[in-house]
Amino acid sequence: MKAAEFNYQRARSIQEVIELLDQYGDNAKLMAGGQSLLPSLNMRLSNPEILIDLQSVTELKGISQVGQVIKIGAMTTHTEIENSALIQEHLPILSEAVPHIAHRAIRNLGTWGGSCVYGDPAAEWPACAVALNGVMVLQGPKGERRVLAKDFFLDLYTTALETNEILVATEFDVSKTTRKHYFEELSRRHGDYAVTGIVAQVIIDQDVIVDSRIVYFSVASTPAMASGVQALIKGKNIHSIATPEIIAQATQLVRSEIATLADLTNTAQMKTHLVGVLLERALKHIANSSRR
Ligand SMILES: Cc1cc2nc3c(=O)[nH]c(=O)nc-3n(C[C@H](O)[C@H](O)[C@H](O)COP(=O)(O)OP(=O)(O)OC[C@H]3O[C@@H](n4cnc5c(N)ncnc54)[C@H](O)[C@@H]3O)c2cc1C
Repeated sequence: MKAAEFNYQRARSIQEVIELLDQYGDNAKLMAGGQSLLPSLNMRLSNPEILIDLQSVTELKGISQVGQVIKIGAMTTHTEIENSALIQEHLPILSEAVPHIAHRAIRNLGTWGGSCVYGDPAAEWPACAVALNGVMVLQGPKGERRVLAKDFFLDLYTTALETNEILVATEFDVSKTTRKHYFEELSRRHGDYAVTGIVAQVIIDQDVIVDSRIVYFSVASTPAMASGVQALIKGKNIHSIATPEIIAQATQLVRSEIATLADLTNTAQMKTHLVGVLLERALKHIANSSRR
């Protein structure tokens, strides 16, 4: 099937994008890498009057550091994140996650912002943004507003972005604390969407866990945070979180707190099982990596 007819405008600045969104409202669609949007147009799931292409909005591109904050522009491609030394140094979870996103051709075109705004619960970036406590920087006719990633993903393919707003960037605080992390996804073939995935980050102070974020993707309608497990391990010595007692308690807890949903090929029960399997691996890895 081919897309229905639409007008096309290549925007040159964020201001121009906002003016066009203001003018066309619901009848406009922003296009980033087009990797999710174009298939949906071709299947006629969406029928915009105008497509606003973001490729020439240079303000939206690139990865930068200001003080202790790393900023990923919305139009930064998956491949640029994969190749970034700044990301490798300060946000290594993203470096580990990115090879799991689709295949090279899609990673060359698909963008950070497109993935976050699309809000696919099976995608890696939304879960990473929540686990790393990212701040989504949005801009609209009334100026800029900031939304924590944990509050950005509202439901299946639904975010806190208003129709007249654009996602400009995501910011991450990378101030010097001791962090341990774990990323793993289970998929049928490398590059397929995950059956279930986990992104975990633990912050420690002198071996004591002071904060953690354990987030699953491809299990629910949004990235799913294991708040109960986070509370369970808070204040514990990092080396103690892989004892059989804690593992048993944590896996039982996470299987009851994450309300999994079936997808086309996997049952909710299987995902509930995998949620516990991945948590056990994460806790063991984090406890052991802190001994090095
Ligand atoms: C075969 C295939 C396999 C894939 N596998 C994976 C996978 O394993 N994991 C994964 O995470 N993804 C996967 N993807 C999706 C891919 O990562 C896309 O790149 C991503 O979902 C959308 O990014 P995009 O830049 O192409 O956005 P687009 O398709 O251009 O846009 C997506 C949506 O976001 C909106 N949008 C884009 N940018 C902005 C912005 N700055 N502000 C406001 N709205 C914006 C658009 O209007 C549109 O509604 C796959 C895609 C394909 C085709």
